[in-house]
Amino acid sequence: MHSDQGHSDQNPSAPSGASGGNVDPEEIKKFDALAHRWWDPDGDFKPLHDINPTRLNYIQTRTDLLGGPVIDIGCGGGILTESMAAAGAEVTGLDMAGKALKVAQLHALETGTRVNYVAGTAEAYAQAHGAAFRTVTCLEMLEHVANYPSTVQACADLAQAGGDIFFSTINRNPKAYALLVLGAEYIMNLLPRGTHEYDKFIKPSELSQAIRAAGLEVVDIAGLVYNPFSRQCRISRDIDANYLVHAKKPI
Ligand code: SAH
Repeated sequence: MHSDQGHSDQNPSAPSGASGGNVDPEEIKKFDALAHRWWDPDGDFKPLHDINPTRLNYIQTRTDLLGGPVIDIGCGGGILTESMAAAGAEVTGLDMAGKALKVAQLHALETGTRVNYVAGTAEAYAQAHGAAFRTVTCLEMLEHVANYPSTVQACADLAQAGGDIFFSTINRNPKAYALLVLGAEYIMNLLPRGTHEYDKFIKPSELSQAIRAAGLEVVDIAGLVYNPFSRQCRISRDIDANYLVHAKKPI
């Protein structure tokens, strides 16, 4: 089975016991409820489909995806996960939402993509698989967890020395609120209402601090600008709303 590579502990419907800590159950419920919508390119996750080639390209140009195992933390239905596997990477996708993972597994089967999907939290998985991954990605997930520095630390723990770690999230300021909450959820109905909680948005300075506290170096911070009308996305110096961070674990 495509989703059963390498490890024996990945039944997506059975999150590991140690995973209760850093999880907001309402968030997981929200993503599980939308599970069937993940792969509709014009559905609730349309923006993730639209931005995926741009963020994949950012990651590919900054790490050697084929140079060692990759883990995608908070992988959801597997949009980024599958695209990295399709590019030839050996990828594990981890999420707490069991239904989203089932959808991810089914989709990988349909497309014949090899991905190892695991249910659980980054923290629990890092305890068992410390320093196991050449590349760690954690995109659009930190703004949904209870305690993001703990997730950042787990991503750092999962990375090999010299490994590359990628985060993306949303800045916290009036412009981001207007674009991501009012604009995307209420005016354009681009995202389901309640997808984002403004208080959980993270300023680049705050994320950088958590990254450094986890023993990583910040290599780059880049804006990800998305135009919902043209559905175009590009890397930009504008980090007012969505942004990506490339971090590195020192050797
Ligand atoms: N990274 C994917 C999906 C982003 S949506 C992408 O960018 O395409 C956010 C995902 O984070 C959801 O699938 C949600 O279930 C997951 N998530 C939220 N809190 C989590 C936690 N504590 N542990 C693991 N996954 C979590």
